[in-house]
Amino acid sequence: MAILKVARLGHPVLRMKAEPLPVEKIRSADVQRLIDDMVETMHEYDGAGLAGNQVHELVQVAVIEVEANPRYPDAPVIPLTIVINPMVTPLSEEIEDGWEGCLSVPDMRGMVPRYTAVRLDCYDREANRVSLLAKDFFARVIQHETDHLNGIVYIDRMRDLRTLSHIAEWNKHWLGVREQND
Ligand SMILES: [Zn+2]
Repeated sequence: MAILKVARLGHPVLRMKAEPLPVEKIRSADVQRLIDDMVETMHEYDGAGLAGNQVHELVQVAVIEVEANPRYPDAPVIPLTIVINPMVTPLSEEIEDGWEGCLSVPDMRGMVPRYTAVRLDCYDREANRVSLLAKDFFARVIQHETDHLNGIVYIDRMRDLRTLSHIAEWNKHWLGVREQND
């Protein structure tokens, strides 16, 4: 396994669309190694998720996991989820603002509106079809990672760039400021 280099904001790969992975290739050694490396990279940098674009791979693969995470101390636990060729469908019109960060936008936080509940249809790493319903923080992470695969970063979704904060200032001035419902 290897820790991969993470592209940061400004690298064109973050603005490109990742290609769907042919289902028959999901179980190949190359793809399995990429998934293992992405999980290891996410763990190394305490990310809640990581998408292919972020490690310079334009394939629709993302990994998501939240254990006890020092970058998101209040976040609920999300088991390791491998997301391949995702389709995300909002389950209601309800949108909620919440704080996000990104390994490609280091040391920053911003308030981002997201659907509070989504259905995720995708493949897992064994090439099984998966359909799951996600709410709140899990739904948020799914939307964040799926956006990456479409060349979108969270800053593009922000309604008010004045909440964009360096983490040190965020800890002083914004920590505990709760999200507002629409
Ligand atoms: Zn990100």
